[in-house]
Amino acid sequence: MATFDEWLDAYDVVYEALPAQSDHACPNCGHRTLRMVFNARPGADVGYVSFWCDTCLEGISVSRAPIPAGATVRSTDKPVEERRPAIPNYRLAT
Ligand SMILES: [Zn+2]
Repeated sequence: MATFDEWLDAYDVVYEALPAQSDHACPNCGHRTLRMVFNARPGADVGYVSFWCDTCLEGISVSRAPIPAGATVRSTDKPVEERRPAIPNYRLAT
């Protein structure tokens, strides 16, 4: 299992590529299926980030990150079950 620091390294690469979709490999399983979604109130320029791999369903969350233009933002003003895109219940690296 990848360490939290390895996930942070991958996070930096994917974050810097935004709003382009990165094909960076997952630090845990090596698949190029990393996903990054910002969670924020409508109009906010800072949010918390869900960052995970769709293949192995591991990842991290990062709080209070500036939201780059064009990034995928999930509004927090709706009930959790109505928020899109859906975020799987992934395991947090420690
Ligand atoms: Zn993975």
